[in-house]
Amino acid sequence: MEDVQNAPLARFSTLKIGGDADRLCHPQSVDELVTLVAELKKNNQPWYVIGGGSNLLIASDGYRGTVIRTTQMTNIHILESGLLEAEAGARLPHLAKHAAQKGLAGLEFAVGIPGTVGGAVIMNAGAHGSSISAIFDSALVLDSQTGIVTEMRSEDMAFQYRRCALDPARHVVLSAKFNMPSDIPEEIEKRTRHNEEYRFKTQPLGFPNAGSTFKNPLPDKAAGFLLDQAGVKDLKQGNAAVSSVHANFIVNLGGATSDEVIALMKQMQERVRDKFKLDLVPEWKTMGKFTDEQMSVWHKKTAVENKQ
Ligand SMILES: Cc1cc2nc3c(=O)[nH]c(=O)nc-3n(C[C@H](O)[C@H](O)[C@H](O)COP(=O)(O)OP(=O)(O)OC[C@H]3O[C@@H](n4cnc5c(N)ncnc54)[C@H](O)[C@@H]3O)c2cc1C
Repeated sequence: MEDVQNAPLARFSTLKIGGDADRLCHPQSVDELVTLVAELKKNNQPWYVIGGGSNLLIASDGYRGTVIRTTQMTNIHILESGLLEAEAGARLPHLAKHAAQKGLAGLEFAVGIPGTVGGAVIMNAGAHGSSISAIFDSALVLDSQTGIVTEMRSEDMAFQYRRCALDPARHVVLSAKFNMPSDIPEEIEKRTRHNEEYRFKTQPLGFPNAGSTFKNPLPDKAAGFLLDQAGVKDLKQGNAAVSSVHANFIVNLGGATSDEVIALMKQMQERVRDKFKLDLVPEWKTMGKFTDEQMSVWHKKTAVENKQ
């Protein structure tokens, strides 16, 4: 297992922001990951699992503890039952293309989502009217508190819009199985290409970003539309700016810090609250230390979550 001290994290986040981790480990297998977490737990050492770092704001001060990056655990199998099984670190675009070539449908929505299987399960990643929950069969999950690995089925996961029952501070997704119906490969590839082209037209290319910053507050109210109407596209804090292409994307113009990004998120929330009386809730997770004031940006629920 690759195991380094004082590792810079910015290159492992799609936003290209993040200071050093005390230690960075790249387990090569599920067994290595399970052993590592058990060891860290036994020694009472803090840890954080990441995949593609594509839905994550990492503190510019870095992370005091061990970061476990799953991206070398990438095995994929098609099982006799027709299920597609993938280790936590397999990338969604690769998985989607692999499945399409094999005539397995259902992952066309995921071709432009630069995350891993583990991150996609935790986030219930979705796009183009579908999401992980639509094809999810089961996942092998390590509960770090008990050290037990369990197979969790769809009914255990309580999938909702961009969330599920698992807590990434406690549960580690080791692998997942997806239920994917057969279809003609050319047809699947056509739908996949269509989704890819739509993204090229509607999302910023060039500057580092972490996808949508905020969740849609209501099913019929897209955060991007509300932000656009609230006139956020001219907002900027230091080297962090709202994308001119998509008002729900923050881009790193070069050398932006996590403090600048949070200050910008706060301004975006304020603009939408002033105009629409709606609270926007970040989709991103955070890693590292932030002040209570900064974390107040996260301490809100969408209108739908409030009713639950
Ligand atoms: C250009 C761009 C476009 C995007 N488009 C979309 C989109 O259309 N739809 C969408 O839903 N998202 C989108 N995203 C966001 C992101 O790609 C997804 O949320 C993705 O599923 C995150 O996966 P990741 O591996 O990068 O997770 P990370 O960012 O590495 O981590 C996110 C969270 O998951 C946890 N985690 C990661 N792996 C594991 C694991 N194995 N076990 C337990 N916890 C784990 C982390 O601890 C963290 O809390 C986009 C991002 C970008 C940059």
